[in-house]
Formats: sequence, C-alpha cells, structure tokens
Amino acid sequence: MMGDRDFRSIVKNAVDSIGRELEIEIDAKDIKTIHLKEAVQCLRRSYYDRVDPKEVERRGFNDLLAGMLRKLQYGSNPKEFAIDDIKLKGHADMIADDSIVLFRPANTILETPLANDLLYLNACMWIYDKKDGIIIYITGNKEETMFSLTRDKKMFEEVIRRVRVLSDLLKEQKTPILEPSNDCTDCQYYQRCFITKKNAKQVSLSEMLGLSKD
Ligand code: SF4
Repeated sequence: MMGDRDFRSIVKNAVDSIGRELEIEIDAKDIKTIHLKEAVQCLRRSYYDRVDPKEVERRGFNDLLAGMLRKLQYGSNPKEFAIDDIKLKGHADMIADDSIVLFRPANTILETPLANDLLYLNACMWIYDKKDGIIIYITGNKEETMFSLTRDKKMFEEVIRRVRVLSDLLKEQKTPILEPSNDCTDCQYYQRCFITKKNAKQVSLSEMLGLSKD
C-alpha cells in the first residue's frame, strides 16, 4: 500500500478485467455445443461454470498469456468437430508450421506436461486435422519448457466421451461427480465441493467406528 492507494488491488482489478475480455465465450444455455476447455478440465467445474458460476481468481498477467495470443492476428480461429448432434468447439492458441501451439503459465519449470493440457493439445490436433503439436510453459521468470506431441486416437476418444457425459449431465441437470486433483486447490468451487456446512454435527472417529467412549 502506497499513500492512500492500494496498488495491489488496482493491478488485481486490471488483471480481472482483461481476463474477462479474454475468456473463451461459452453460451451456458447451448448444451449441444461443448467447448474443449470444458471437456478437459474437471467436469464438475465446467458444470458449475454454466449453471451457477463464480468468478475465478486470476493470479497475474502470466495467466492471460494464452488468451492474449488467441486474440492477436496470428492466433488461430475457433473450429468445430461434430460428435453426433453435439459440436465440440476447439480453439488453438496458434498454428505455426502446420503444428498446433499452446502457451500455458507455470509456477516452476515442469518435468512433464499437465494431463489436461495434453488432452487439449491432442484434441486440437484432431479438430484442426494436424499431426503435431507443442505446449510451451512459461514461468513468471520467463523460463520456458517445451513439450511436443504426436496425435493419439485413444486420447481423443476419451475427450469425446467426456463431451458426451457433460452434455448429458447438463441436459439432466445432474451435478458431475468430484474429480479431485491438484487443480482443486485453485478452484473457485473448492468450498462447494469439500467444505461441509458449518452447523454439521461433528462426529468423532470412535463414533464413526461404533466404539464406546467408556
Ligand atoms: S474443487 Fe475440484 S472437484 Fe470441485 S469443481 Fe473444482 S476442480 Fe472439480
């Protein structure tokens, strides 16, 4: 805090506003169009984002990188892939030398790419009909790690299955099951998923096991 002004909150508000502008647009009511981002992340999170959304907390400008690149003139256009009567909509950050390129922020240098980034990259290769793709992770210190991938059919079939599940659950208005992972820590729905009501009766371990206190 400098003087009367809270510069940290000014920067946070700026990041939030830009982040909202760069968000992939999803029509919550159109359950026959599923965005690739929704299919590769926790389906419960994607469901809540449509039926009862809560704004995500953005950590800094590094989080905005992929969205900014998509908006630039050499960013790619979104493309659709038909799955029966459902449209799977993908949006690569960039297509360069006939390869899909994704940019992702990272806190540290990664040894392996994150599973949902791999699913996203692989699905983009099928949607745009490309054979190769790379993910570039960039840390806050501008350190880069790059991973390349050749497209894989089984991995894409898993995404197709998840697209169908999400579309069905939205239609039936049923909340998807929990998908616990490292992403839960930063998820805006953490409390909904894991914190029980304050007034819930506390049960001791001995009670749960049916043991007498005596
Ligand atoms: S907290 Fe975890 S399980 Fe719950 S919606 Fe978020 S990512 Fe999914």
